[in-house]
Amino acid sequence: MLLVMNKHATDEQIDSVIARIEEQGYTARPIPGGERVSIGILYNKGPVDGSLFLGMPGVKEAIPVTRPYKLVSREFKPEATIIRIGDIEVGSKHMIIIAGPCAVESETQALTIAKQVQKSGADMFRGGAFKPRTSPYSFQGLGKEGLDILVKVRETTGMPIVTEALDLENFDLVEECADVIQIGTRSMQNFSLLRRAGASKKPILLKRGMAATIEEWLMAAEYILAEGNPQVILCERGVRTFVNHSRNTLDLSAVPVVKNESHLPIIIDPSHAAGRRDQVIPLSRAAVAVEAHGLMVEVHNEPEKALSDGAQSLYPEQFAVLCKQVRSIYNDLLANGQD
Ligand code: PEP
Ligand code: MN
Repeated sequence: MLLVMNKHATDEQIDSVIARIEEQGYTARPIPGGERVSIGILYNKGPVDGSLFLGMPGVKEAIPVTRPYKLVSREFKPEATIIRIGDIEVGSKHMIIIAGPCAVESETQALTIAKQVQKSGADMFRGGAFKPRTSPYSFQGLGKEGLDILVKVRETTGMPIVTEALDLENFDLVEECADVIQIGTRSMQNFSLLRRAGASKKPILLKRGMAATIEEWLMAAEYILAEGNPQVILCERGVRTFVNHSRNTLDLSAVPVVKNESHLPIIIDPSHAAGRRDQVIPLSRAAVAVEAHGLMVEVHNEPEKALSDGAQSLYPEQFAVLCKQVRSIYNDLLANGQD
């Protein structure tokens, strides 16, 4: 249940409502809004009786929440969440583009790619230092050395860094270096990792599990918000289907559905959806047309020598074309009334 307070409700009135919620054995979660405060009721086992609160001074409405996810839902928070990373806003009018290699391989590689993608208009740099690989014999990432290289990339270019935290063991290290912490597709239901992400002050980029329903994905995001971190960016990266013409199937319909269900920003990773370079630009154009808040794209200066995901990595020149095309589609949408 969501209790909506009057515009001029006083702090004392809000505190008494919170106290009454807690007397019932529930948890109260105040949600400051632009005009008024709402108070979410969490951890109730059954339906909550709204009449317990409706007569209290300052309470305007008691809205039952019909979805299993609460804090991430539009029912709890109708206005869109905007996540600020330095000067960059995710979820607002600017469509963000995150780009970089799958894995950080060396300082020269990372800096070369970073400068190239920045020149084409990337807002943030991505690169894995801890890589989730299907085979234990594949390149696992440079670990701490990779993180140090990412810090160097930020110092040199000023671009914020997105990198994955694979497990609890290295979470603190990643958190220290990253501007945005990625939780990968294989970790989407690693609940202890989600709780740890929820205790972080850094924004989390939560990828959709490769066979996760939207409800399961939003419930995973709920874990992070329930622990106190409201800064979650959702990332659709393709789901596993029967096809073999691409690595995964990009679920474009996830964008309007998620935007309807949740106030959290949603971006698209066309690279892991496609698995092959020739599909990345068309899928990126489509992602913008369905009004995703941004893109995350793999780019490599020498993809044929890449230690992971070379086949899907764009050449820097292709990335420049992608940026031009998607910015033009986006500007057209804005001019014609995208919300
Ligand atoms: C990645 O972004 O490099 C990655 C491993 O992605 P995913 O978790 O979507 O497979
Ligand atoms: Mn990859």
